[in-house]
Amino acid sequence: MSQNTNHIVINCPLCGQHGLHVMGTRADEETRQCLSCGYVTAPKFKCEKPEDNKEYSTLTPDMQQWAKHEDGFVWIPTIMTLPFGLLYPFNDENKKLKWGFAEMVNISKEEQKQYPREDGNGYYQSRYDTENAKVYDTFLEGMTYVNEKVKDKKGSALPKLNLDDIDG
Ligand SMILES: [Zn+2]
Repeated sequence: MSQNTNHIVINCPLCGQHGLHVMGTRADEETRQCLSCGYVTAPKFKCEKPEDNKEYSTLTPDMQQWAKHEDGFVWIPTIMTLPFGLLYPFNDENKKLKWGFAEMVNISKEEQKQYPREDGNGYYQSRYDTENAKVYDTFLEGMTYVNEKVKDKKGSALPKLNLDDIDG
């Protein structure tokens, strides 16, 4: 992962681990993603305080509750969408942040009517099975599982993180 010269790893200001991946070619596009605690930020989250940040105001209530302000940025937990599943944050019954991994499952022909596409173009044929999600205490554990899955899929590269996916 470190062959890309535009991709460096530094210490994370949130968890202190050497797991903060800095990606992007220009400062105004730079994404910071911690593979240890799972928090991510980008230039659009730069602010003195979260209340002043436009992006923060568009986050879901859960995301706002999980968000942290550090180093002049709002940080939020990663939602990672993959062709075979979804790694996402959620609150357990004690309102503690946990991570779930939901497999992508096929929807049977009979069930598809329950899942109409937003664009009106028929029905979804697959969905993330969040009811049967695997639960992890840390993002790193979830990521480790994702990496195993990726390896199972015959060595395809680690999926690229896309900040558009975390807008909530
Ligand atoms: Zn971290």
